[in-house]
Formats: sequence, C-alpha cells, structure tokens
Amino acid sequence: MTATTDHADFVGDLSPDEFERHAATLARWIAEYLQHPERHRVLSGLAPGEFRASLPAAMPEKAESFDAILADLDRVVMPGVTHWNHPGFFAYFANTASVPGILGELVIAALNQVGILWRTSPALAELEQTTLAWLRDASGFPSDWFGMITDTASVSTLQALAAAREADPSLEVRHRGLAGRPELPRLRVYCSSQAHSSIDKAAITLGLGAENVVRLPVDGAFRMRVDALEAAVAADRAAGYRPLAVVATVGTTSSTAVDPVDAIADVCARETMWLHVDSAYAGVLALVPEHRVHFRGVERADSFVVNPHKWLFTPMDCSVLWTRHPQVLKRTFSLTPAYLETQEQDVALSFSDYSFQLGRRFRALKLWWVLRAFGRDGLVARLRQHCAYATRLAVEIAATAEWEVMAPVGMSVVCFRHRPAGMTEAAVLERHNAAILDRVNASGQVFLSHTKLGPDYVLRMAIGNLRTEWRHVAEAWRLLQGAARTSAAS
Ligand code: PLP
Repeated sequence: MTATTDHADFVGDLSPDEFERHAATLARWIAEYLQHPERHRVLSGLAPGEFRASLPAAMPEKAESFDAILADLDRVVMPGVTHWNHPGFFAYFANTASVPGILGELVIAALNQVGILWRTSPALAELEQTTLAWLRDASGFPSDWFGMITDTASVSTLQALAAAREADPSLEVRHRGLAGRPELPRLRVYCSSQAHSSIDKAAITLGLGAENVVRLPVDGAFRMRVDALEAAVAADRAAGYRPLAVVATVGTTSSTAVDPVDAIADVCARETMWLHVDSAYAGVLALVPEHRVHFRGVERADSFVVNPHKWLFTPMDCSVLWTRHPQVLKRTFSLTPAYLETQEQDVALSFSDYSFQLGRRFRALKLWWVLRAFGRDGLVARLRQHCAYATRLAVEIAATAEWEVMAPVGMSVVCFRHRPAGMTEAAVLERHNAAILDRVNASGQVFLSHTKLGPDYVLRMAIGNLRTEWRHVAEAWRLLQGAARTSAAS
C-alpha cells in the first residue's frame, strides 16, 4: 500500500499572509517600474536563444522560495523584455498597461472566473454586456450592436468571417463543411492591399483558402478603391465565384488609412455581402467627436472590431467584436452538450453561445476599470494629445530638408523617410532608411518599426503610449536626424 501524504506536507501554494507580503513587494516593484520606464532599453538587447540559455534546462524537483522566484524578475526576466510600456515605444501600435488595467488583471487572476456559462459567472457575463454597451454608446455606434470580448483582433475577425459564411444558411457549411462539395461556388473575401494579414489567416483557418482573399488596389491615400471592388465582384460573379464578404479597414496598420466604408456598404448591400470593419487600432478614436468623421458608414457594418488593448490603455489582451447580427453569430457557434444545459439558458446570455471558445476570462473587469478610472474625458484628452503630437511631428519632418512624409497623417501615426539629394533608387533608399532604423533602435532610447507603402520602404512612428510626452517624440526625431547624418556619411 502506498503511504498517503498529509495535506500539510505539500508545498507550493502560499498562505494568504505570504500572499500579502509578496504582493506588497511586487506592488513596490511595479510602482518603481512604472515610475522609471526610461531606465530600461525599449527594445531588448538579447540575441536569439540568449534568454533560454539563462534558464535551467529542467523544472525544479523541490519547491523554491518565492523570494528567490521574485529575485529572478530583475536578474532573468527583465533583460529579455521589450518595454511596450516605455514612452519611447513607437513601433507597430502602442499597447500600454495603465494602472487601473494592471490592478484589474490582479483581481481577474484572483477571482479566476471561467465564463463558460452565465451561471459560472453572472458578473462576467453581465459586466461584459454593460461595459461594451458603455463603450459602444460613448463611441456613437448603433445601440443595437451586440458586443463580445475576444483575445485579439485576429480572432474577432476570424469569428466575424465565420458568421459571414453562416449568414447564408443555404450553403450549409456548419453542418456539411466545404471540402468535397463540387456544387458549392468558391467563396470570396475582398479587402484592400493595405488590409491586415489576419484576414488571410482567417480565410486559411476557415477553409476559404488564401487565394480567395482578393486584395484590391488603393488610391493615393492608401484607401480601398471602390471601383476596383465593384469590378472584382462583377468579374468573380461572371467566373462563378460567390462574393461573400468585404473587410474594410478604418485605420490601416501601415498608415492609418480609412477605407470609404459608406460606399463599400452600398456595394455590400447591392451584392448581399457581409461587411466587416477592421478598426483594431483606430476604433477607439470614435470616442473623440472631431474624429467621428473617420467612421462614416460603419453603422451599416455587419461586424466591427476594435482593440482596447491597442490604444485604450488596457493591458494585453482585450479585443471587442461588435455585430448587429447576434443571431447569426449564435447560429454559427452555439452548441450545447448535455453537461452544459441549464434551466436559465433561454433567459440568460452565455457568451460561449456566440463564440468559438467555451471558457472565457473576466477581461471585462479590467476594461470596466479603465473606462471608470479615466472617464470618457480622460480617454479623449489622451487620444487628442497623441494625434496632436503626430501632426506636430509631421509638420517638422515635412519642413526638414531631405525628409519626406509618405502618407497623410489623420490619426497618431507618421510614415516618413530620409531621402538624401541624388538618392533615387528604391533599393538604395531602403538600405539607407533601414540603417537609420537600426541605429536609432540600437540606442535603446526609442523603438520604431518600418513598413512598405507600395514599393516604398518607410519608417513609421506610432504615437499612442500613455506615458509618451512631446519630449520623447522630439528625442526620437533628434536621434533619427543624427542617424541619417551618420548613415549618409558612411
Ligand atoms: N487589424 C489591424 C488593422 C491591425 O493593425 C492589427 C495589428 O496591429 C490587427 C488587425 C491584428 O491585431 P491582433 O494582434 O489583436 O490580432
């Protein structure tokens, strides 16, 4: 017979008293980190594999003291961290952990809600509905939009396109699938050449096929050309394809271009196509009255995605998918095995009926705390400030010899490049600007990324961090000009 181990012999979890002690240490550590983000290099300086090499190859046999575990935060973890919370973070799109969001995450972990059904967390199910209704109404979006939190815009878009596929029940995709059905036409999804790669990934995952994502040309301001959409749909119909959905972008990843959603909605209505709007970054700008203009026509969208974890100071992860067709989403995803049946299922909303995932985190709580702690005014003031910094930077760049702004600046992103006199060849300009980028990022003070706009390699500065002040933008601009001088001389 094996001897049983008395519960008291187990180690690992900590007592509530020990929790309090370590939490106090951690709270001090986090406060110090948030007070002095500039002590760190923005972009981690580690080489690939270096971080893993600093870790033991196997887990410990014996429990370790939590003091030792915490000590490894500075010694082991921090060297491998790229600081998204740093005011000099200008790459991709910003993502700041605000204090209300960080505190929210602590409680989310402690309460450990698993929202598989309404009854497994009424607070989760109902707070998610209320918080998203607050955000929707404050953004001026239609009051009948149904919202749901997912982890990322990629997953929100995946679920929106799954619903688009289900919107026509005669396709019977849910039950019969797509493969081996010669009677089905090929389903097509349209987006601009500037649209995010998550659309292609969704098409791959849903079995629509990457080649059935039709990327349309853009105009001089990087917006989808509606004439090209109309022509592509007509050509596809003539060739026997079935136009299924259009993904319009409000705030493209490269340059924050805004597709003409209203005109696209006309085409979708005429052609019976689902209109999904990807506003992963820019969607929060609908909170700012003078920026509502970017959202003309989105009220006609079938679904819309925005990420509070990008520009609404909510820590990773928190994406919001809205749709005016919750019943289609439900038809797509609802599936209730016997063990999940409840008496209240007809009157209480369970998000698992509307989404691919069964369990869900209590993400609504951190978003709720962010909305309450900032208030609409606080959020609007920050968003306005970031846009004002971008405009000011663009003016300075445009006024500086041999520098050029490469796309309209309508939000908080500036695309630009250095073009020394006589340097005209695209490949040479690319090498030159890539060298500037490497130099600036190697400083550790700022982190910028690049993109391609058509054939042009451009540098990109996305201003959206809660802790960024004008002095950080000015410092980045100073570093860029210094790096350009060095690169041109070498
Ligand atoms: N859509 C747009 C317009 C984006 O800019 C991004 C990322 O930057 C995404 C989708 C993907 O976001 P996520 O990482 O949340 O999937």
